[in-house]
Amino acid sequence: MRRSDAAPEGSGTHGPLARRLTVLSGPSGVGKSTVVAEIRRSHPEVWLSVSVTTRPPRPGETHGVQYYFVDDAGFDRLVDEGELLEWAEFAGNRYGTPRRPVEERLARGEPVLLEIDLQGARQVRRAMPEALLVFLAPPSWDELVRRLTGRGTEPPDVVERRLAAARVELAAEKEFDVTLVNTSVQDVCDELLTLMAVH
Ligand code: 5GP
Repeated sequence: MRRSDAAPEGSGTHGPLARRLTVLSGPSGVGKSTVVAEIRRSHPEVWLSVSVTTRPPRPGETHGVQYYFVDDAGFDRLVDEGELLEWAEFAGNRYGTPRRPVEERLARGEPVLLEIDLQGARQVRRAMPEALLVFLAPPSWDELVRRLTGRGTEPPDVVERRLAAARVELAAEKEFDVTLVNTSVQDVCDELLTLMAVH
């Protein structure tokens, strides 16, 4: 379900290339990575940026697929060398988007999708105002709490931190161009692909 319309074509400082950049953001637990996994499965031609993180892998996660897993020193090095397009600290870990692969694809006019947190979305907004920012919202707050606590992959203090971050993130919805409400993964994927002009 779409709750608001994207900025009209031609408004703002649109560059035709960076317009191919779409940012998917929204509170932790809302289902961003499920949406991304479904797009990866159904539309392998859509390139998804693989972030770098200092968080340890969850069961089933593979280095280079969901994330590049690095230690603190490795992350520091990437920041110092200007290799990250944006980065943020989230619930005690750091996450960032490698700059070069994104810029290469945009230069070729290919669609690029980033799945990042609110702080990262704001950095992209500043660096590339023509990017399309999409907010993934939960059907309700209770549903978000249920998803975050039911995941069972994080200890209670981490879940608490993620819920606190979610409250802040939900309040930022109006900063985004479009809101998609995650009532169905398939519907969200379809709407996202339409927004990205992939189909
Ligand atoms: P998780 O640990 O659940 O995989 O991700 C935690 C949060 O970090 C999510 O909100 C996710 O969107 C965000 N995230 C993942 N990669 C990046 C990144 O490269 N940059 C930023 N700013 N946030 C990211």
